[in-house]
Amino acid sequence: MSDCIFCMIANQEIPSKVVYEDDRILVFHDLEPQAPVHVLMIPKKHIASLDELTEEDAGLIGHLMLKVKEVASLLGLENGYRLVNNCGEDGMQTVKHLHFHLLGKRKMIWPPG
Ligand code: 5GP
Ligand code: ZN
Repeated sequence: MSDCIFCMIANQEIPSKVVYEDDRILVFHDLEPQAPVHVLMIPKKHIASLDELTEEDAGLIGHLMLKVKEVASLLGLENGYRLVNNCGEDGMQTVKHLHFHLLGKRKMIWPPG
């Protein structure tokens, strides 16, 4: 999608600090980190949110989920981490391209705000 900021990042039209990339997904540092480690994991394909996922994307999202532990290990998160998805208005999703926040290197609190 031409007006989507994360599509632009995936297409390298906007620079980002890339942590991991393959043909289907991209992982890059969040612009406003909320933890010492805060990266965003996105499918390169434009999917607006978890609500827009279809059966067709099962393999893609399975691939992304299986990469979480690999990226966590790459970033030295051996003591644990938190994976977050904000969906829709109540979920406080601000960028309408599916993404998962991977946060670590600090003790998280529960419940989240
Ligand atoms: P959301 O609130 O939609 O779950 O998360 C969007 C995230 O994207 C926020 O944590 C925000 O800091 C990050 N973000 C927004 N614009 C950019 C950008 O241009 N580059 C990067 N690296 N992160 C961004
Ligand atoms: Zn997009």
